[in-house]
Amino acid sequence: MSKSLSRRSFLKGTVSMLAAAAVTGISGKAFAEGSGTYIPGTYSATANGMGTVTVTMTFDAESITDVQLDVSGETPDIGQAAAEELKAQLLAGQIAEIDGVSGASVTSTAVRVAAAACIAQAKGESVVVNEAAAPADHVLDLSFMDAPEAIPSEKISAVLDCDVAVVGLGVAGVCATRAAAEEGMKVVAIEKCSTVNGRSSQFSFFNCEKSRELGVEDIDANELVNELMNQMSHRANPAILKKWADNCGEAITWYGNGYEGITWVPIGEKPPEDAVYATPMAPMPAYQPGVDHERIFSGTLNFRPKGHTPVLEANFQRALDSGNVEAFFDCPARQLLRDESGRVTGVIFQNLHDESYTQVNAAKGVILASGGFGHNENMMAYYLPWIHDIMDKYKVTYAHTDINANFANMGDGQQMGMWIGAQMEPGPLGSMAHGDFGKLGPDAFLQLNAQGIRFHNEDQTNDHYGAQFVRQPTPIYMVFDSHWAEQLPLMQGGLGSVRSANQNLIDTIDEWTSAKGDSVEELAANLGLSGEAYDNFVASVERYNELCEKGVDEDFGKCAQRLFPVKDGPFYAITDEGSLRFLVTLGGLCTNPNAQVLDNDYKVIPGLFAIGNVQGGRFVGDYPTTIAGASHSMACTYGYLTGKFIAKA
Ligand SMILES: Cc1cc2nc3c(=O)[nH]c(=O)nc-3n(C[C@H](O)[C@H](O)[C@H](O)COP(=O)(O)OP(=O)(O)OC[C@H]3O[C@@H](n4cnc5c(N)ncnc54)[C@H](O)[C@@H]3O)c2cc1C
Repeated sequence: MSKSLSRRSFLKGTVSMLAAAAVTGISGKAFAEGSGTYIPGTYSATANGMGTVTVTMTFDAESITDVQLDVSGETPDIGQAAAEELKAQLLAGQIAEIDGVSGASVTSTAVRVAAAACIAQAKGESVVVNEAAAPADHVLDLSFMDAPEAIPSEKISAVLDCDVAVVGLGVAGVCATRAAAEEGMKVVAIEKCSTVNGRSSQFSFFNCEKSRELGVEDIDANELVNELMNQMSHRANPAILKKWADNCGEAITWYGNGYEGITWVPIGEKPPEDAVYATPMAPMPAYQPGVDHERIFSGTLNFRPKGHTPVLEANFQRALDSGNVEAFFDCPARQLLRDESGRVTGVIFQNLHDESYTQVNAAKGVILASGGFGHNENMMAYYLPWIHDIMDKYKVTYAHTDINANFANMGDGQQMGMWIGAQMEPGPLGSMAHGDFGKLGPDAFLQLNAQGIRFHNEDQTNDHYGAQFVRQPTPIYMVFDSHWAEQLPLMQGGLGSVRSANQNLIDTIDEWTSAKGDSVEELAANLGLSGEAYDNFVASVERYNELCEKGVDEDFGKCAQRLFPVKDGPFYAITDEGSLRFLVTLGGLCTNPNAQVLDNDYKVIPGLFAIGNVQGGRFVGDYPTTIAGASHSMACTYGYLTGKFIAKA
């Protein structure tokens, strides 16, 4: 199937699927004739790191004489901090295949790939120029839905037999691998990147012995599921959500204990120094019906001090230690295998180093755990056009790449499933696309759009902020007066919300606000507003102050407790600029609550399972931040449950 629809250019600065590195500039005597190894000159290329990494190399006839790295889009303490060492390695080694800097693997890979493209240019070799970076309209191609030609048997250089094949080693796949291996299953675990992949730290976690021990109050799982269903307009699958809610306590306790000697720190207690620990987030304020605009639940565990990645790695090591797991890195799965009855019998993967294919026969089944499709332009344009078409407004935070610096989140699992008749869940699909206001997060101070007009009840969670921000002229201004620090504790709270001002936040206010004024008029002028926008801004503050005085928000219905007037200077504003973030996609294949994949008639496809961000029915239309950490928690819980289930299936 293919369809031509024009879409605006996507993920500015990312690379095309044709070439991992993009040539950005050639100067000097690039095409002069010469008899040396290189054509002397200066060459540039870019590749995907956390942002776009640009390598510029100067060559004489026999050597690399200078290297410049632009890593300004990388994480300051990690990728940026590694730049000098990476540059030194390129100059000392005179090759692109440098060791890299441990802990900065994403930036190191990008530097290797871009350096290889510079060297290729200097040798006069052709390098395919990045097409995605060109400012052209995107023509939608739906061929990702069409099954490719089957990989012929003569191309298969090895065959492995196992009980379970797991595709993808993020949190879902690692948990499935460990759980199945602990049940005595022989597991082949297949990963596209060079390592297991984790990020961040939050996991929803409640209603179990450990959560109670740590001081987390039990919640009513049905109330949580019903609230999530309401938030998603009843498009998710409540049975899948309920099974998660009933099992996440047990699964996350098991996951945390996967790190031997982890310290469980109760709420309010001092964490250990220099040790991996798990501790619940401070509880959210109790829900006040009739006051709070949203219902937010407490019950989220944080892994510290370096997020959950050390715990993920330890869980994977446990799986390996069982002696039941064979793991293959740099080896993307390419196609599923089925027998005549339609049962999925295995998977073929490709080794990125030598391009060879291996067939894995999996007697009990294949678990797809290959994550989302955020960097697959055609899938984004088709399934999430409302994000794709305005991608330039978002900061894209997903960063995992393969050895060729191609992003890993290409929707391979969803595609492989569709190719054999699995049903992609009905839309609108869900994604994590949030917005907030820098240091203050989503708090209910007055907000005005670029035209100076108030546009909503500001008492929202950050997913809802994000939804409004893309429907307004921007920038959007959050406006408050000198009482802001006293008002913060009266906010509802929620993911990313800041509810108290420490001394540092108070002392640095001039750094994290966008403008200040001794009067509202001065504030508007300092924001650069003029004409109608300036007049609207001043009039909107006046109107808001009137509503605050009355104690009734006649315009948008914000609760009286959070109607804070803007009347005592100095006055401040922060803008939303740079606060919109796109993290992952959450739409996947239809499954039943055992994570068994369903076909278009909602019948189980025997032998095929989908978990994590390949599993549909979990977050549809939106990713509600009703409880923080639900995505990790669901990926972990369904990995744990599916690994156990498949052993008994
Ligand atoms: C910056 C950031 C912060 C986040 N913070 C939070 C948070 O605090 N709380 C929360 O709940 N969620 C958070 N999320 C979302 C959360 O990380 C993911 O939704 C969740 O981890 C998904 O897990 P997964 O195992 O399904 O997928 P992934 O973690 O994406 O893992 C999929 C794996 O499959 C591999 N793969 C892909 N294709 C193939 C193939 N063909 N063959 C083999 N392997 C393949 C990938 O390389 C990857 O290792 C965050 C996301 C981002 C980007």
